[in-house]
Amino acid sequence: MAEDRLSGNRIIEEAIAALHEQGGVQALDAVAEAFRKRISDNAELVIPVMQPETAVKSMRPGKGAGTNGLSDLRLLQMQSDDGKRWNVAFTSLEEASKGEKTTTVTIPMENVLRGAKDFKQEAGIAINPFGKAFLFSKELIEKTLAGERTAPLENKILFDIGDITKMDIECIVNAANSSLLGGGGVDGAIHRAAGKELLEECRELHGCKTGQAKITKGYNLKAKHIIHTVGPVYHGKESDAQLLAACYQNSLELARQNNIHSIAFPAISTGIYGYPKEEAATIALAVAAGWIATHKDYGMVIVFSCFDRETYDIYQKVLKENA
Ligand code: ADP
Repeated sequence: MAEDRLSGNRIIEEAIAALHEQGGVQALDAVAEAFRKRISDNAELVIPVMQPETAVKSMRPGKGAGTNGLSDLRLLQMQSDDGKRWNVAFTSLEEASKGEKTTTVTIPMENVLRGAKDFKQEAGIAINPFGKAFLFSKELIEKTLAGERTAPLENKILFDIGDITKMDIECIVNAANSSLLGGGGVDGAIHRAAGKELLEECRELHGCKTGQAKITKGYNLKAKHIIHTVGPVYHGKESDAQLLAACYQNSLELARQNNIHSIAFPAISTGIYGYPKEEAATIALAVAAGWIATHKDYGMVIVFSCFDRETYDIYQKVLKENA
């Protein structure tokens, strides 16, 4: 079994190799992602255990190698050029055998990485130090375990044609009704795709006022979060525009409070609620641009999900007119 739990670590080795070749934060993110994937597969890591005085020549063992929650094992440590001390782990027995012969044990990857938060003097874990090495810093390990991105944050407004429920994004917005208990249009599609647990969570929210927003988990969606906002029914009054603007503004604010950095909006109110699409697009784009301008350092990717080509063309027209 241990073999299975190690052989799949190839994806980590490949991601590290790509990082060596290309460098850059995207490649770094891919390494973090590979570790996360392997943790969910219950993978293991190979840990060398030895007396510090028998450590191989290419390494300078740290004094009094720590235990770091891994029972009473004495862990092999190494020191990087900058003087930092690292525990050592290998993705495979083959990687371990590239160094001098040591006794090894295999330990669940998740335990090894979770142990890093208790490191006092160690900077992190040196993965495969005899091959294509990766210095997995304590900070990066914690980000990886928390599922946080390591990629840079950027501000962008994008457009997508298609079904919002299929989007691979952190958060999608639902054009809900004030009951938050599901309905037609995009609301129905989101509830169907997310599954009945969404309805259960929504029941506990006790509705939502027009222009306001509430957040739930994404359940069966690729999106981790759903922000439910209630658009105004169009009457041609000035308050309609204010309420529609509030939907976008409050959703973006709620996203920020939840550390969300990518969000997709449907064309709120433009279906059953009858808001003219061009007017609605003008408001949506103005709020999005305004929000980004006032949160320049936050990094938010805002996607307008257009269910059809017609809606997409309307956004593009409004964008041109306001350029
Ligand atoms: P509202 O009640 O706020 O008008 P609707 O769901 O009726 O909400 O429509 C809002 C917009 O969402 C409409 O432009 C509709 O074409 C669009 N829409 C419907 N289903 C989807 C979907 N699966 N993905 C993205 N947009 C959708």
